[in-house]
Amino acid sequence: MPINKKNTFEQHDNENGSFYHNSVNFPILSNNTDSNFDVDVCIIGGGLTGISSALNIVRKGYSVILLEARKIGWGASGRNGGQLGIGMRKSQSSLEKKLGINHAKELWKLGLEAVNEAKDHIKKYKIDCALQNGVLTAGSYKKDEKEFLYEIDYIQKNYDFDKYEFFNFKKIKEEINSKKYFSGLLNKGSYHLNPLKFLLGLTNQLINLNVNILENTPVTNIEETSDGIKIITQKNIIKAKYAVVGCNGYLDKLLGKKRNKFMPINNYIIATEPLREEKAKQLIKNNYAVCDTRFIIDYYRFSEDWRMIFGGGETYTASFNHDSENFVKKRMYKVFPELKKYKIEFSWGGTLAITVNRLPDFGTMMNGKLIYAHGYSGHGLALSTLAGKLIAEKISGFSDRFNFFESIKHISIPGGDFFRRPIYSASIAYYKMRDIF
Ligand SMILES: Cc1cc2nc3c(=O)[nH]c(=O)nc-3n(C[C@H](O)[C@H](O)[C@H](O)COP(=O)(O)OP(=O)(O)OC[C@H]3O[C@@H](n4cnc5c(N)ncnc54)[C@H](O)[C@@H]3O)c2cc1C
Repeated sequence: MPINKKNTFEQHDNENGSFYHNSVNFPILSNNTDSNFDVDVCIIGGGLTGISSALNIVRKGYSVILLEARKIGWGASGRNGGQLGIGMRKSQSSLEKKLGINHAKELWKLGLEAVNEAKDHIKKYKIDCALQNGVLTAGSYKKDEKEFLYEIDYIQKNYDFDKYEFFNFKKIKEEINSKKYFSGLLNKGSYHLNPLKFLLGLTNQLINLNVNILENTPVTNIEETSDGIKIITQKNIIKAKYAVVGCNGYLDKLLGKKRNKFMPINNYIIATEPLREEKAKQLIKNNYAVCDTRFIIDYYRFSEDWRMIFGGGETYTASFNHDSENFVKKRMYKVFPELKKYKIEFSWGGTLAITVNRLPDFGTMMNGKLIYAHGYSGHGLALSTLAGKLIAEKISGFSDRFNFFESIKHISIPGGDFFRRPIYSASIAYYKMRDIF
């Protein structure tokens, strides 16, 4: 097996470039160039977990510095499918069985709050990130219809949620111009957006609040001290009362064995040239974001300038696949053969963190001085935004809501550094085969 000595955050340099990175102006950071800092909270990771934590913590009156190994939005937060979904990656009925009804109900409320939190930020800070309503789960199998109808009924009765709509065979054909689907479940409580514009909108608030944001500053070590915590980079030493780690799929060895609680997987996306609104609406009538019901999902939506942004396909090795265009386009052509006529202008990928139970892993180390949140399992756009709020609550002495996540037990993926990727890959082979046959 090839051994890859590069850090995960060093893996994405040879891409053709992502649509998102080409759709924004990155903020100019006028940073303090000191080597040593003494702050209340040092945040590691410039994705949504880190940026949302920084914003919530600084708003509570603490002094904050944020360290990012590469650039703000370099990780999954600036590269994802843009689906801002409510809930967790697991159905409520399975959460009830696993965690008990009360815990499951608290998580449901937090899942709704996560999307509302993102929407509130967008409104409050006037972030122009092309927010659109509606995420449609398209049934790839005949049996999905029964599950969708059960889900609508169950959630309506037990959670008083009325934002689901069922699409039968005729309606799904009217909505998505593809032969692939049998039925659909529309969720009008979920949204889609340009994730990098959202993230940079929040970053601009931090800049306005004079928060120090150091890019190209990978943290190499974190040590507990008698009066706090010491964060070490190649050029800096930061003394803090707390450290917050939001590195998700890019964590590598920074928190030691905690990395075994999730599998870092690579997922890939392409964007076509702009199609024009009229053509786009012939493919997805009401401009919803779509994901299917296969184990390795296809997920797609139109951008603000009517490009098809199509994601799908995963790799599990430590090395990143730099030919994401060829990797993803075959999947897209199976859904929309007529897109072969359009140029693919961007292709990219990113790394995300998947836990075994598909629920996020929140926790503390070093006697509560180090707080981390990761493992959102492909559902982190809303949940990482919420994580920042809950981490700020915890630091200010209100741990209850953080604990709803922290108390969830996670098993470690076996195999250590050499074997856990092949073990994980082999263990999901059966489910991948179900997608093919
Ligand atoms: C291709 C793809 C599609 C996805 N689609 C969706 C979707 O449609 N909807 C959804 O909800 N979720 C989606 N996700 C998942 C979602 O993007 C993530 O869950 C979320 O962005 C995680 O945010 P984060 O801030 O925790 O991590 P990230 O955004 O990954 O940020 C981690 C940051 O930590 C930095 N870092 C790492 N190590 C260090 C270090 N030692 N020192 C300093 N900085 C460090 C990295 O450079 C990186 O910028 C997708 C993910 C991918 C990759």
